[in-house]
Amino acid sequence: MPGRLQDKVAVITGGAGGIGRESARRFAEEGASVYVVDLDHGAGKDAAAEVGGSYIHADVTAPEDVQRMYREAAEGSGGIDVLFNNAGISPTDDESILNTDYEVWQRVQDVNLKSVYLCCKYGIPYLRERGGGSVINTASFVSVMGAATSQISYTASKGGVLSMSRELGVEFAREGIRVNALCPGPVSTPLLEELFANDPEKAARRMVHLPMGRFAEAVEIANAALFLASDESSYITSSTFMVDGGLSGAYVTPE
Ligand code: NAD
Repeated sequence: MPGRLQDKVAVITGGAGGIGRESARRFAEEGASVYVVDLDHGAGKDAAAEVGGSYIHADVTAPEDVQRMYREAAEGSGGIDVLFNNAGISPTDDESILNTDYEVWQRVQDVNLKSVYLCCKYGIPYLRERGGGSVINTASFVSVMGAATSQISYTASKGGVLSMSRELGVEFAREGIRVNALCPGPVSTPLLEELFANDPEKAARRMVHLPMGRFAEAVEIANAALFLASDESSYITSSTFMVDGGLSGAYVTPE
């Protein structure tokens, strides 16, 4: 039986990390040729090798790197069908606006928001050449909810990813290019584990708001990305695609 991404070529940024690596696995299991893009050479190569894909070392904040990575992927596989713009950072020195320095603010904006601009700007032309495709930009539940445990630049960057994705989805809808903002709830990945190891009290404060009483597993987010990448989601574009275990719908959670 053909896979759900049979004959598709997918470029996954941040493909060496928690969500990206699971997505590389799921995409490849469903027949995609996968390009893992990351800054982490060792983990990136491992992730690509595990799925029979290719690793491209690139910094998604650098325009020339982003152009090169798509060029390499398109030359290697004859085209590109799926852009999963997933690389992101959540550093601990990004916190309340009162304590967050401008340099920290800017670094987070560059990695989380400017990168998505660059990846769409230089990636969408390849989808146009193919006559269509799917763009999945990773936002977050914090693009629709406020937290008193603030990470001000992160939240603002993800709000930008959400609105940019919505607009791109509308602009390219008639060309068969779908653009969706994937909004994960908190996931147990190194990114969040590091944040919470540094501050268990913050972790407990957040857990109480989760209807399911647990964080997501990375594969649960990867499965949503797989759906958005595949033709099964052919009528879904410009969406705020929440995968948050009910977090954004909750007022009072079960005891
Ligand atoms: P992760 O830290 O496990 O993986 C992120 C990957 O991005 C890493 O491999 C890292 O090397 C790579 N990366 C960072 N900067 C880069 C750059 N400039 N160029 C290329 N690669 C770069 O994180 P994750 O939890 O898998 O998160 C993936 C995405 O999901 C991020 O955009 C994150 O903001 C978002 N997200 C995560 C959670 C969560 O709870 N973990 C929740 C909502 C949204």
